[in-house]
Amino acid sequence: GTYKRLIIVAYRLPFSIKQTKEGVSLFQNSGGLVSAVLSMAEQMGQSAGDSGPKIHWIGHCDNSLKDIQQSAFEDEHFVAHPVFVDEDVHQAFYEGFCNDLIWPLFHYFPTFASFQENYFDAYQQVNNRFLEELTSIIEPGDLVWIHDFQLMLLPDLLRKAVPEATIGYFFHIPFPTFEIIKLLPRTWRQALMNGLLGADVVGFHTADYVKHFMHNVSEVVGLPIIEQRVVLDDRSVFVGDFPISIDFTKFDEGSQLEAVAEMRQHYQQLLNGNKIIFSVDRLDYAKGITYRLQGYERFLTQNPDWHNNVTFVMTVVPSRDKIGHYQEIKREIEETVGRINGLFGTIGWRPIVYSYLSLTFTELLALYTCCDVALITPIRDGMNLVCKEFIASRRDNQGVLILSELAGAAQELPDALIINPTDTQEVTAAIKEALEMQPAEQQDRMQKMRQHLQNHNVFRWSHNFLSAFMSDESWQSELA
Ligand code: UDP
Repeated sequence: GTYKRLIIVAYRLPFSIKQTKEGVSLFQNSGGLVSAVLSMAEQMGQSAGDSGPKIHWIGHCDNSLKDIQQSAFEDEHFVAHPVFVDEDVHQAFYEGFCNDLIWPLFHYFPTFASFQENYFDAYQQVNNRFLEELTSIIEPGDLVWIHDFQLMLLPDLLRKAVPEATIGYFFHIPFPTFEIIKLLPRTWRQALMNGLLGADVVGFHTADYVKHFMHNVSEVVGLPIIEQRVVLDDRSVFVGDFPISIDFTKFDEGSQLEAVAEMRQHYQQLLNGNKIIFSVDRLDYAKGITYRLQGYERFLTQNPDWHNNVTFVMTVVPSRDKIGHYQEIKREIEETVGRINGLFGTIGWRPIVYSYLSLTFTELLALYTCCDVALITPIRDGMNLVCKEFIASRRDNQGVLILSELAGAAQELPDALIINPTDTQEVTAAIKEALEMQPAEQQDRMQKMRQHLQNHNVFRWSHNFLSAFMSDESWQSELA
């Protein structure tokens, strides 16, 4: 039948909270998950307006906000249920288990992974804290949707506490092969796999991640698999690929804004009308930023004709820069940028315009729409939304996407110039091809990619995920 309420559980709440003398203010997060959830609630007949029931969202909250009354954690769409965790436990959970072990390991950087016992203790504690919050609000008929690698134990914890609960789980980063999972202590990997199998539906971005997960099910917990289902004693778990996407319209329409057009002109002037290569990523070793710079350097070496006529605008968004490996990669990036600019640059021409900052929506849209080439070269990326946003912003059907085959998005975008980021010569050749590509070919490729994303947007994503629960006829007809 239909579900009464939607409960989202994610490490991050749907808004950030600021406490000032005047009171508490909430700032809704702009990410795709929030818009997807809002549209999903509408599909479920749960009005997103003031009149209908609101969406419940459980997420971590900073201890400095502990004294705020629960009623303040509410906006027109969401009732937030903050989870507070002691500082030292949170540190070992978040900076430790999540970002110092799971993140590097699941992105195939095992040498960056740190396997500390207290990390796993903290991970268990925090997942149990989320469980407490969940069990205090869950009612019969609720649909619980748990998100990402911070909460892998939670589906099974909830299943044990509330056996009849309906539980969905979505994994937002790559799911690696057994050879990687095998590096985890036996008890940890068993707990993580069993944790996920507490859900009714487990979703990943790509068919490869599903395949890896299924292989791990066989190797780690030894359960039988029939087609897309893991078979347990009294129930089964559906495992499928649901590639996440973006709010296509937001970027498509955003590209037409007056403020964006002004900013675009401003940038083009600043860069003397040069051709523009653009990239933006969070600071992360998995984003392949150094390989990208090497590719660009080799391009400049091989193509002196392009000197003075091209500018690489490379923006890195600050992230996790208190963690050692992040500081290292930042230093390496900045040294490489400095070296390349020193090698090729002149008084009048900087080959790379690098900045380490966050962009506003207007700046981001202006860069997506004034660049000639988007150069996206992660060594490993669960999906990569930046490339999808770039495409959605190009209503003019111009611009070339160079995309790493190691990003989940590459599975959906064969009309990009697909490269392997470690193959510097291939990146070099792709940059040249992209800069010299005829407008007609650009248009042909861009149109195909835009058509795909127009259909496969973030609302389609949440709809498809939800539909996986709804074998029930009445629900199917309601969605249609
Ligand atoms: N983004 C941002 N701040 C910026 C520039 C970009 O928050 O200054 C957004 C960007 O629009 C995109 C997201 O960050 O939605 C990055 O998502 P992606 O999947 O590409 O990479 P992730 O950071 O999740 O690994």
